[in-house]
Parts: sequence; structure tokens; C-alpha cells
Amino acid sequence: MIADTPATAAPFHIRRMEAVRRKAEKEGLEALLVTSLQNVRYLTGFSGTAGTVLVTMDGAFFLTDFRYTTQATLEVHSAKVVESKELLASVQSILVEKKIKKLGFESEKVTYYRAGEMKQKFAGVELLPVKDMVESVRIIKDEPEMEAFKWLIGILADTFGDALSLIKPGARERDIAVELEYLLRKRGADGPAFDFIVASGPRSAMPHGVASSKTVAAGELVTLDWGAKGRGYHSDNTRTVSVGKVDKELEKIYNLVLEANLAGIQAVKPGVTVKQVDDAARKLITDAGYGEAFGHGTGHGVGLDIHEKPAVSWRDETVVEEGMVFTIEPGIYLPGKGGVRIEDMVAVTKTGCEVLSDSLPKTFMVI
Ligand code: ZN
Ligand code: ZN
Repeated sequence: MIADTPATAAPFHIRRMEAVRRKAEKEGLEALLVTSLQNVRYLTGFSGTAGTVLVTMDGAFFLTDFRYTTQATLEVHSAKVVESKELLASVQSILVEKKIKKLGFESEKVTYYRAGEMKQKFAGVELLPVKDMVESVRIIKDEPEMEAFKWLIGILADTFGDALSLIKPGARERDIAVELEYLLRKRGADGPAFDFIVASGPRSAMPHGVASSKTVAAGELVTLDWGAKGRGYHSDNTRTVSVGKVDKELEKIYNLVLEANLAGIQAVKPGVTVKQVDDAARKLITDAGYGEAFGHGTGHGVGLDIHEKPAVSWRDETVVEEGMVFTIEPGIYLPGKGGVRIEDMVAVTKTGCEVLSDSLPKTFMVI
């Protein structure tokens, strides 16, 4: 239970901060202004909604306003907490004090307007746009993060039996989703990781068919894509079940998707590219003639964001490394008929991967 208290997690935050500092130094920066809240949380453990980190080469500052000072003092151990009335003015005074002339900023997280303000306020400082600097450290998960995933997936596993009893003819998709959200919260989650997809019958052919007011009927496939959120992290899982007997082709595509899911998992190991993982899952589906019906990537990284690096897709050549956590979620979607997706979260090990969600059964299930 390492991540439970800010104090026990502090060494990890300090280590993450150091990794970011090394990257910043390598890029020739003298400091990095971190404005993405997820990145701020990653580096400091701060769980509030207003905070900025200035990483310098010999330290770090956490800037927040009056509302969060007490919370920050409790949570933040990897940076000096500074209460600020006007953020840019406070940053500016640190830049002057530390004689910082080259400041990196998260170009994808700062608006055009804000960048203009920074340019004006930080006179004499060279502003350098950076991309994915903290994210490239976040891509490898550490111990408290792994613990968070295991805990969050455990909540799903504990609730899966309830999910199966909720999915039945006459049940509204929306009610199933609401009930599951409630149960996840009861079991300790801070909330749902995203709007749950409960897609029954022809709606299961929509990869992102969020729960609607449609009722489940016998003879339909139901796709449940759900996850729990907690400690800032997410879990993400999909199971598709058959309500009564379904059309032969639907059962066939179920087994095909399951094979693709297993082939994708099998392909995961350090040194291969994410494209190779995608290929392994995709090949089975394409060879069976359903290539066109699998239009999305095989998976995505999960962490403080529900979708983060790496994207496991044919468009990406990222090399798989030990400590990455991502999903393997092939699917086949037949418009008008139905669809299947089976999603697991895997953690890359030295020699392959650990399926974090293997406590959720995935053989063809008729309920
Ligand atoms: Zn999902
Ligand atoms: Zn997913």
C-alpha cells in the first residue's frame, strides 16, 4: 500500500522529478514549467485542481493559490510549496532569483493566449516549447502506479459478478451503467474512469456506444467497457457477453476477437514495436476477412489519463519497454448486427507481460 499516503509515496515523486530534470537538462533547458494537472500530480502527488510546478536544475517549486496551500503542504513533498496571488508574477520572481534564461513550457497544454502572456511577463527569458517531456517519463510505470492499477482492477473483478446479473433481458443500458458506477464507488473507487459503454444488440457495433435508454433483449451481444478511477489513476476493461443464444456469426466473431486478444498479448515483450503488437492481433482478424470491421488501434497506454502513451497501433513504432502498461483491445463491429470487443490491461515484464485483468473471465459467456 505504498501510494496510500503522500509521505510514503514521496520518494517516488522525487525520483520522477529527477528523471524529468535530466530530460530537461538534455534538451538544454534551465527550467521546465509544468502546467498539465496530471503531470503536476505525477511529480508531486498533489490531487487538487490548481497547481503548477517549476522544475529547476537544483530543485522544484510548487505554486498554488490560497485555497490549496494547506492541502499542498500535506501532499507535496517533492517541491517547495509557494502560495501565489498571481501565478506568472510568482514564476517570474523565481526565474529572476535563479537567473533562469531558458524556460521550457508544455506547448500542448498552454493556450496561445497564455503563451503570449508568458512572453510578455518573462522578459529576457527564452521560452522553449516542449512536447511530451513528462509524458515520456510517465510511459514507464513505477511501484505505486502498479499498485494503483491492481487495486482498481481488483474493484472491477469484485464487481464483475454484479455486472453479469445486471445484464439481462429488459434491463436498460443506462441503468446497468449507473448501478455499476455506484458499486465501484461503494467498493472504494473515486468514480468511473469514463462514461461506461453498455452497448447491446446492434448498438454493440458502435465501438463507443455509451449506455443509452435501450433495453437489453435476448439473443443480443452486450459490450461492457468500464473502469474505475482512484488515486488519480484509471482502469480500463471490456467484456462482451451473450444474452441467451446469439446468431452464429456473432459467436464466430467473438471467438475470433478472443484469439486476436490472446495473440496481441502473446506478442507483447520488451524490444518489439507497438506496431508489431497491433499486427499480431490484427492479422487474425484480417485473415478471417473482417479487417475492415476492426477500424481502431489495438490498444493504448493507461495511467493518470485514460488514454496515454503508447498508442498501440499500426501508425506507431514506439518500442515496448518493461514497465509500460497498456490495453490490448481488438474488436469486430458489424453494422446493423452487433460487435465484440475484448479488452485487457497488460504490464510489460522483462520477458513478456502480465495480464493485469486476468481475473475477469473472457471465454464466450452465455448469460
Ligand atoms: Zn475500454
Ligand atoms: Zn481502452
